[in-house]
Amino acid sequence: MSVFISLGSNLGNRINYLQQALALLERHEQITVVAVSSIYETAPVGKTDQGWFLNAVAELETALSPWELLNVLQLVERRLGRRREERWGPRTIDLDILFYDRLTINHPCLTVPHPRAHERAFVLVPLSELAPDFKFPGGKTVDELLSELENSEQKVLFFGKLNDKI
Ligand code: ATP
Ligand code: CA
Ligand code: CA
Repeated sequence: MSVFISLGSNLGNRINYLQQALALLERHEQITVVAVSSIYETAPVGKTDQGWFLNAVAELETALSPWELLNVLQLVERRLGRRREERWGPRTIDLDILFYDRLTINHPCLTVPHPRAHERAFVLVPLSELAPDFKFPGGKTVDELLSELENSEQKVLFFGKLNDKI
């Protein structure tokens, strides 16, 4: 299955956390990292009294079910020192499932497509590098949603390519 995930970090060596998360995912027998976007530095959304994030989006190919994948993502988060479970608070690494093929899941512990991805520039900007024409459930593409956010205050600055930064 083709899956898109978002990666975010705003604590410690942020670039290193992104890189390590991808390396741990790649090491999993049933996950292949197909593509990784550029990295963007983004102002925190929602809870704004915390450091800026580095964000990226990756495309994975996996035989894992969505629940198994969520489990792996949470294992990787814990392995990379994510401890404080304050919602929207600072974290070494945050790994979210954006899309899992064309599947829709509505469960308190797993909502796919990710219910807030369409309104987040820090997701849409990197996602648009990998899948600009991907359609969200409402029928709008990534790039259409992005153009609607053009006048929003969300700050997303190009930071660089992962390989140039490590
Ligand atoms: P947001 O979901 O708004 O990005 P967050 O990533 O800060 O917030 P977390 O504290 O990391 O939220 O996760 C809270 C719970 O969200 C997780 O325990 C998980 O069960 C649930 N969850 C629901 N849908 C998803 C998804 N698509 N990807 C990852 N986690 C999800
Ligand atoms: Ca998140
Ligand atoms: Ca999360």
